[in-house]
Amino acid sequence: MHEMSLAMSVIDIVENAARAGNFRRVSTVWLEIGQLSAVEPEAMRFCFAAAARGTLADGAALQIIEINGRGLCFNCGETVPLAALYDPCPTCGGYPVQATGGTEMRVKELEVE
Ligand SMILES: [Zn+2]
Repeated sequence: MHEMSLAMSVIDIVENAARAGNFRRVSTVWLEIGQLSAVEPEAMRFCFAAAARGTLADGAALQIIEINGRGLCFNCGETVPLAALYDPCPTCGGYPVQATGGTEMRVKELEVE
């Protein structure tokens, strides 16, 4: 489950931000997860709670914002919704569609005390 190492990197980001901002506790973390990022939101939720134990984010709520995949079709030149990497273009059925959005996972915002 690669979500565990990802969850630990999220905690790293949160702890660095907390240190830089002199926060004592992080109460909510908003995490954007792209549809094409290969991160399972439910697995992330579970791993985040485990990885947060004993850190500033211990017990913090995790709010997951799912970002839809988007791609640029090289066949018709349209920007189209993309549900999975390597899917054909939903508009013209062509290939390849290069992912242009929804491929990342990032910490969007923190609520701190
Ligand atoms: Zn197309």
